Amino acid sequence: MSPEVSSGVEVGAVAAQVQRVRGAIAAAAERAGRDPATITLIAVTKTVPPKLIQQAYDAGVRHFGENRVQEAVSKIAALELPDARWEMIGTLQRNKARVAVDHFGRIHSVTSQALAEDLARQAAQRGIVLPVLIQVNVAGEATKQGVAPAEALPLAHIIAGLPHLRGSGLMTVAPNVADPAAVRPVFRHLRELRDTIRAALGDDWLDLSMGMTNDFPAAIAEGATLVRIGRALFGART
Ligand SMILES: *Cc1c(COP(=O)(O)O)cnc(C)c1O
Repeated sequence: MSPEVSSGVEVGAVAAQVQRVRGAIAAAAERAGRDPATITLIAVTKTVPPKLIQQAYDAGVRHFGENRVQEAVSKIAALELPDARWEMIGTLQRNKARVAVDHFGRIHSVTSQALAEDLARQAAQRGIVLPVLIQVNVAGEATKQGVAPAEALPLAHIIAGLPHLRGSGLMTVAPNVADPAAVRPVFRHLRELRDTIRAALGDDWLDLSMGMTNDFPAAIAEGATLVRIGRALFGART
């Protein structure tokens, strides 16, 4: 293997993996009676070298997810990807809000009123409206970020009151279990929360960011609109 390959996928193979993943997304959508066009693939590029990110872009991927601000900033600088959209999917420290708003087009990981207000202030300074999702810790795992399910609606009300944020939905990371079917109730719960928030605050609250390499078909079956996929595209992270 060439030295650029840090991920277990041969250089040049990313395009083939993109096609396979798109096929699997379409198949899961069809099984669920959904239009595949309502599901956006977000390629998760943490630890992935710019060269392989470029290959995903060349294969048509336009949404890229990163979970560390600094890592994303250096990759965004190293790449020139017109019309690519960078999405923040990891824990965001309040002191990184400014840099995050400079580099990301959407934040999936809002977990507090204080962070929402910091992001809103940064967006206001730039005269933009920033789309955000609330991260929910549906299963209540101690190791996972996110608000408790009962806190999602109150936080959504706060976001709805911040004119420079547009609350667009909910995000979760499901427990990592051997049988992906076992996490379907977690995805279902997030969809029900989304439905509640949508009924209270309006149709902007549409997105369900859920589903990763191990469990995206189950997430799609429960209504995922944004799937965040890393290893199935780029191979195992080393
Ligand atoms: C790493 C990561 C993913 C992608 O996980 P894979 O198992 O590589 O598909 C999705 N979401 C978040 C928040 C992540 O940190």
